Amino acid sequence: MKGRLIVASNRTASPGAPPVGGLAVALWDALSERGGVWFGWSGDTVERETRGVRLFAEGNVDFALADLTEGELQGYYLGYANRALWPVFHYRVDLAQFDEHDFASYEKVNRRFGRVLAQLTRPDDTVWVHDYHFLMLGQEMRQSGWDGPMGFFLHIPFPAPEIFTALPQHQRLARALCAFDLVGFQTDRDTANFRRYLTEYCSASVEPGGAITVFDRTLRTASFPIGIDAEEIAALAESEEGRSAASRLGKIIDNRSLVIGVDRMDYSKGLPQRMEAFGRMLDDHEELQGRVSFLQIAPPSREAVDAYQDLREQLDRLTGRINGDHADLDWVPIRYLARSYPRAALSGLYRLARVGLVTPLYDGMNLVAKEFVAAQDPEDPGALVLSEFAGAAEQLAGAVLVNPHDIMATADAIHAAIVMPVEDRRARWEALNAAVREKDIAWWRNEFLAALDAIRTDG
Ligand code: UDP
Repeated sequence: MKGRLIVASNRTASPGAPPVGGLAVALWDALSERGGVWFGWSGDTVERETRGVRLFAEGNVDFALADLTEGELQGYYLGYANRALWPVFHYRVDLAQFDEHDFASYEKVNRRFGRVLAQLTRPDDTVWVHDYHFLMLGQEMRQSGWDGPMGFFLHIPFPAPEIFTALPQHQRLARALCAFDLVGFQTDRDTANFRRYLTEYCSASVEPGGAITVFDRTLRTASFPIGIDAEEIAALAESEEGRSAASRLGKIIDNRSLVIGVDRMDYSKGLPQRMEAFGRMLDDHEELQGRVSFLQIAPPSREAVDAYQDLREQLDRLTGRINGDHADLDWVPIRYLARSYPRAALSGLYRLARVGLVTPLYDGMNLVAKEFVAAQDPEDPGALVLSEFAGAAEQLAGAVLVNPHDIMATADAIHAAIVMPVEDRRARWEALNAAVREKDIAWWRNEFLAALDAIRTDG
């Protein structure tokens, strides 16, 4: 009989409301099957004196929501997690800001949360910690006395050791990660990077079965590419909300081919390069003037971080320039919407599109790529142009793969996708869809938890 599951992630589902999005649903399902605790930040900032943890029981699951102070939000969250870890893990050392006070805040919040979480556990529980906000949570839980099974999953890339070592605290972070029994990554490339760091920089030794011994502990590493609920997305694409969004847009684009991109406004997503490539494609193909519409949905995120404000300005300028160069009285080539849409509406738009552009400079997985595939009409599917630097490329080799830094090649790939005959689109889509459906979100969580449970059984 398995014990309870304890999940820690920066944000949890909202207590009392149905979970939204594939990941939240998958974690909720796992929690409600086994009973347990879902721990995360409440989203609130409060004064230090009133800082606490609120518990909400929902059936056999307790939500434990911890507050941050304004100082912790600045140092731990906006500072170390989003100004240092996020850029470095996405290969943007140039954008990283290394501030020792931010690291101190990160460590302290991980310590405070780790202590709280250790108190909430029972001896036969299993702990599953998520993502880059909590790299040190496991170590802090161990120091607070938790010695049961504990796994970690990194949702973002793990960079090559030569990049990771740019972080002044790389060794402390790696040592902390090794407090887990299982460390999971999105791709084989990420797993290999982490293992290479441990062997080359920390004198780790590899056991015959693949486990790694380092810092007086033995742990396992593996890749578990995260998936989506493909059936849900396919249904949403044909839902009333999905159809209505498609019909509103359809009226405006008329019978032009729709090219779509949907990305959080983040410098890792390669948005300026994508705009440039689209502009270049228009320059090269006069016959497509007035015949294609590129819709880019880009909800702003982390606006308190400077690099994100710079990106916003850059995108505003670029779309203005490309539209200025190419638009005509009855046609604007790029519709750029800096706002978010519900997944049902997005799914309807994906289904309407001839081409999906997913061209991040680096991305842990990229769920939009998988959602685009799942939403297509099998008879007349759109083509996916996918960056070779998205984690999804390891599974979606049937997409038109591009190097997003190569503007000319990306422009050519966009053109090839727009004019791709329906037979080719179908053949590619069938392979892509099979891959998306085989390793869906339920597969991901079962696979991770089975691997973690196996470690406990094996001892
Ligand atoms: N998304 C959404 N509305 C939007 C833009 C994005 O619901 O306006 C969703 C999208 O459907 C996907 C997720 O946000 O499920 C983005 O995940 P992804 O892995 O592509 O990128 P991330 O934002 O996590 O870097």
